[in-house]
Amino acid sequence: MIAEIVCIGTELLLGQIVDTNSTFLAEKLAAAGIDLYHKTIVGDNLKRIEEVLKLALSRADVVIASGGLGPTEDDLTREAILNITASPLEPDIESLEHIRKIFSLRNIPMPKNNEIQAMFPKGSKILPNPQGTAPGFIKEFNKKFIIALPGVPREFKEMVEKEVIPFLCSRLESPAIIKSMVLKTIGVSESKLSEILKDIFFSSSNPTLAYLAREGGIELRITAKGKNVEEASSLISKMEQQVRERIEKLIFGTDDETLEGVIGKMLRGKGLKLAVAESCTGGLIASKITDVPGSSEYFLMGAVTYSNKAKADILHVPGEMIIKHGAVSKEVAETMAKGIREVAGADIGIGVTGISGPSGGTQEKPVGLVYIALSAKDKLYCRDYCFRGTRGRNKSFSAQMALEILRRYLLGLLE
Ligand code: ATP
Ligand code: MG
Repeated sequence: MIAEIVCIGTELLLGQIVDTNSTFLAEKLAAAGIDLYHKTIVGDNLKRIEEVLKLALSRADVVIASGGLGPTEDDLTREAILNITASPLEPDIESLEHIRKIFSLRNIPMPKNNEIQAMFPKGSKILPNPQGTAPGFIKEFNKKFIIALPGVPREFKEMVEKEVIPFLCSRLESPAIIKSMVLKTIGVSESKLSEILKDIFFSSSNPTLAYLAREGGIELRITAKGKNVEEASSLISKMEQQVRERIEKLIFGTDDETLEGVIGKMLRGKGLKLAVAESCTGGLIASKITDVPGSSEYFLMGAVTYSNKAKADILHVPGEMIIKHGAVSKEVAETMAKGIREVAGADIGIGVTGISGPSGGTQEKPVGLVYIALSAKDKLYCRDYCFRGTRGRNKSFSAQMALEILRRYLLGLLE
C-alpha cells in the first residue's frame, strides 16, 4: 500500500508553523509497513488543493490530508474533495450533536458556520474527533481512499493513532512492519564510513543502511521490513553483525544510548572514579557526565580552570610551563589531567585546553586547536585535534572527543 500526505495551510508555507503532523504520520506509516513516497504542503487555495490531491491520487492508494476542515472560508479541504469525487454533501446527526455538545460545554452558542463540520461527502466513513469540533472522514474514490483530518496537532495525532492506522492496517493485503535500529559511531567521518561500508550500502534493499550526521558523531540506521517484528529483527541483526565486523571499535552504542551513559556504565562496572579539569569546554564535559542519573557514584569533581592562575593554583600547573609552552599545549593538558586526578583523589583525570574562537588563534595555534589529556596511574595520554568550527561546535566536539578518549581508555584501546 502506498500512502501520500498532503498538508494544507498557508501558514505552513509562510514558515509560521512547522509541519509536525506529517513527521508524526510518516513515522506511524513506516511502522505499519505502509510506503510513503511523497508528501506535499499546499496553501489554502481551492484550485491548488485540488491539483495536489488529484496528483496524489494518481500515484498513491491512500491520500491523507491534514488541515482545512474548520468552519471558515479558508478551510477548503472538504470542498476540494467534493469537487474531485463529484459527491454531494450529506449531514451526519451524530457529528452535529458532538459539535453542539462541545459548544455547550464551553457555554457558548454554536455558530451557524460550524454546521458545515458535520457535513461529509456522501458515503464517507466518519472519524470521531474527541478533542475538537471537526470530525475527520474517509471517502472511497475509484478504489482509493482520501482521508481528511483536522490540522490541530493534538486532534490530528489522536485520530491517526486511533482511526487511520487501524483502518489502513485492516486493508493491508500482507501486513508488514518496518523496524529500525541505530548504531552510533564516533571519531570517524561520514565519507570514511561510507568507504568502509560501501558494498553493504549498495547491495542491500532490505534491510537498508542510512547515514545520519549528528553533532555527537555519525549514526548508522538499519531499517528492515518484515512480516512481523521477529522477521525484521533478524534481518537487522544480520546486517548489524556485518557492520560490526568492520567497525566494532568505532561504535559506542545503539538507539537511545549516549556516550556519557555508556561511559558511566563502564566506570561503575570497573569501580573507577573520574575527575575532569576543563578550560575551553567551560564545564561541558562535567555537564554531560552529570546528565546521567547516578553519576555521583563515579564522578568526583569537575573544575573549570579558565585562567592561568586557576590552572596553577588548583591544578598545580607550573607558571613556567605555561610561559614556555602556552596555556594551550600538550604539557599543560597533561598536567591539568594529572593535577585534577590528584586533587580529587580519582582514578582517572581528564584535562582539556584549547582555543574555541572566534578570536585568539595564531598561525601556529589556530582556532579550534584543542589538547585532550587523560591521566591514570598506568597511563598518560594526550592528543590534539583541530576542529575548525564555530565556538559552540568547537566546544561540543572537544567535549565529545574527551569522552571518546575516556571510552577508549576504559576499553583498553588507547595506544
Ligand atoms: P480549525 O478548525 O482549527 O480551523 P483545521 O482542521 O481547519 O482546524 P487548520 O486550520 O489547517 O486545521 O490548522 C489548525 C491549526 O493546527 C493551525 O493553526 C496550526 O497551528 C496547526 N496545524 C495545521 N497544520 C499543521 C501541521 N501540518 N503540522 C503542525 N501543526 C499544524
Ligand atoms: Mg482551519
